[in-house]
Amino acid sequence: MVMDRGIIGVLALQGAFAEHISILHKLDVSAREVRTVNDLDGLDGLIIPGGESTVIGKMAVSYRLFDALRTLGQTGFPIWGTCAGLIFLAKDVGRAQPVLGLMDITVERNAFGRQADSFEQKISIPAVTACLGEKNDSPFPAVFIRAPVVTAVGPEVHILATLPDGKIVAVQQGNLLGTAFHPELTNDRRLHAYFLRMIRDK
Ligand code: GLN
Repeated sequence: MVMDRGIIGVLALQGAFAEHISILHKLDVSAREVRTVNDLDGLDGLIIPGGESTVIGKMAVSYRLFDALRTLGQTGFPIWGTCAGLIFLAKDVGRAQPVLGLMDITVERNAFGRQADSFEQKISIPAVTACLGEKNDSPFPAVFIRAPVVTAVGPEVHILATLPDGKIVAVQQGNLLGTAFHPELTNDRRLHAYFLRMIRDK
């Protein structure tokens, strides 16, 4: 997908940022690693990758990005968090760690326990397939790595995807998108295309 103009930032403090950038490039989209407040200048959207949410949070504070990220999210700027990125966007993560608190969701970290530290599950994400068109209706390969789940959502949050047992693994609240899994670790680019569409339709 080619955007008329625009550049997507990927928070590059820790975690799987290179994989997101590589998918954006495959979609012919300009991407920029974000490590400082200046790197946020002129972006059209931001992806917060998976990794370790406590580390990402602490680094965002020490790199003086924390307040700028929160202000951007509060003012309608499109942000997508994957896995640790979803945790970082959440309002309630059940413990004291720096989180942006932008999404009205409660998240349980490492929700799948030791026996399922990592697994792949085919899931359907109707809002994404509806947005991208009928040719895109095959299930999504969702890769979960020490993944969180969303255990409660506020009234403005749309649940985009659940596992067969009902666990919530993808949510959207206006300009904010969150997935508990890692689309950037698969060849499936539809979630990235959906995020770009969110930005374009803003
Ligand atoms: N378990 C990590 C955390 O709590 C998230 C794992 C991931 O991003 N793959 O931050």
